[in-house]
Amino acid sequence: MITSKTSFLALIGNPVSHSLSPIMQNAAIQYLGLDLIYMAIPCKNEDLEIVVHSLKKMNCKGLNITIPFKQKVFDICSEISPVAQKVKAINTLKLTNDKNWIGTNTDIDGFIYPLKNLNLAKKSSLILGSGGAARSVIQGLIELKFSKITIISRKINSLNELISNFKNDIKIKGLLSTNTEIDNLIQETDLIINTTPVGMSNTKNNDEIPFGQSFWNSINSKTIVYDLIYNPSPTPFLKFCDKKGCMTIDGTQMLIAQGAKSLSFWTNGLEVPFEVMHDALKEYL
Ligand code: NAP
Repeated sequence: MITSKTSFLALIGNPVSHSLSPIMQNAAIQYLGLDLIYMAIPCKNEDLEIVVHSLKKMNCKGLNITIPFKQKVFDICSEISPVAQKVKAINTLKLTNDKNWIGTNTDIDGFIYPLKNLNLAKKSSLILGSGGAARSVIQGLIELKFSKITIISRKINSLNELISNFKNDIKIKGLLSTNTEIDNLIQETDLIINTTPVGMSNTKNNDEIPFGQSFWNSINSKTIVYDLIYNPSPTPFLKFCDKKGCMTIDGTQMLIAQGAKSLSFWTNGLEVPFEVMHDALKEYL
């Protein structure tokens, strides 16, 4: 029950009305019997600073940060975790007792969650897309001890930026999607990860697969294919790869695991029930 002692957690972004975080977080909060609620706060670009500073003065315990503010909140934090600094994105803020924001990133743990028991050390990976999510994916693959990463993208600038950010941590290279080496790489790689929005509901590419069907002629049934998109689940890309005999993973577990990690961070390490969050989401996915 919400009482005069109830504190709150919130998601800040623009837009946030589509977000499933309040559903899964409030289910976990209720299960754990915490005197908290989680809500979504839409925020205009020009209002970010005043909104986040004002929340410090209230009974807010923590925030999730989503598009377009994952970089912008760096200036607001008095402490930033090494992992958030490495991927240059913050998705979780926690208020300290002396009312300062600590920033971290739970997307890496979320990404790793469905892979961590698959014994992928020394394997190779192909990442599609070079935007924000690709950074968390690369950091996750480094933590899983992959030997080699190739990123495929449409733009040389974002490829170069990713390579220079991670080249000291892992063997990494970038290829434009027109490169003729790609056929062989697709055949040989152990894990393919789609970080592009191609195939996502409510976009103009919702019925497409990344780079078109003929791009995937050489795909091998031994390859694992992971699409970060969770709506729809499966995406057209995962359906195609499933028909080719590949093991497929959608973005649902990542979504839940990053949220569970945030709630654990806000509650000083409580064990958060993944299945309760998953059950809460089922009717919305
Ligand atoms: P982003 O920063 O906008 O990056 C998207 C990347 O995809 C860019 O490199 C972009 O290339 C590329 N791209 C876009 N349209 C493309 C197309 N038609 N063909 C080829 N490449 C294309 O977005 P993001 O934040 O990384 O998010 C990417 C996806 O991951 C979204 O679908 C998001 O929902 C999903 N995601 C899921 C989770 C989860 O918890 N499951 C978490 C984070 C993100 P250009 O620069 O050339 O446009």
